[in-house]
Amino acid sequence: MNAHKIVLLGPPGAGKGTQAALLAKELNIAHIATGDILREEVKRATPLGRAAKAYMDCGELVPDNVIINIVKGKLAQLDGFVLDGFPRTLKQAQALEGLKIDVAVNIKLSREELIERLSARRVCQHCGRNYNLRSEPPGRDLICDGCGGHLITRSDDQPEVIARRYDVYQQESAPVVEFYRKKGILIEIEGNRAIEAVFQEMLRSVQIQLAS
Ligand code: AMP
Repeated sequence: MNAHKIVLLGPPGAGKGTQAALLAKELNIAHIATGDILREEVKRATPLGRAAKAYMDCGELVPDNVIINIVKGKLAQLDGFVLDGFPRTLKQAQALEGLKIDVAVNIKLSREELIERLSARRVCQHCGRNYNLRSEPPGRDLICDGCGGHLITRSDDQPEVIARRYDVYQQESAPVVEFYRKKGILIEIEGNRAIEAVFQEMLRSVQIQLAS
């Protein structure tokens, strides 16, 4: 395992999850996705999951103290990681201060593009793999190519919730981009391209930053 510490920023639908998974594999570091951790808690109907669901279903953020504790617990056991979906507020970014983040990647996508993407997103109920009905449809209608599970629409990918998530992103998470810009470790990537094109550009820029 390597010891690189990377955060992935960007609005919902920018492709953080997909790109974080590719980057983690390439650099041999852990992929920590707060949205996935919370959805797993919701699925298991734990007390945390039940509390988080109310926020997630209407597009609001789970309170800082809750998510910061979860992330700190996960990171304590790791040398290197790609954080996907965290930090989403300045308070969360400040909570990472002791860790010396190497690179922050901001994947950019316009409001129109993300609404289009999230409306077409379907996810496998069983293994969590993501599809886009327009650009990356499954081979068989609404069936996962990988595990044969059923594809569903995430409860927070409903149109009203998508709009709210974007507004929350603008208010709460856009300042986090500026936080890392001021530190001089921000890389910005245009997200409205094929997965592989975004990945290759991101990897090149990340490697330059890691070597500097
Ligand atoms: P995501 O899969 O990253 O889009 O996250 C789905 C939902 O989980 C968000 O809309 C929030 O309700 C919640 N969530 C995920 N990460 C965080 C975070 N860092 N802070 C607060 N809420 C979060």
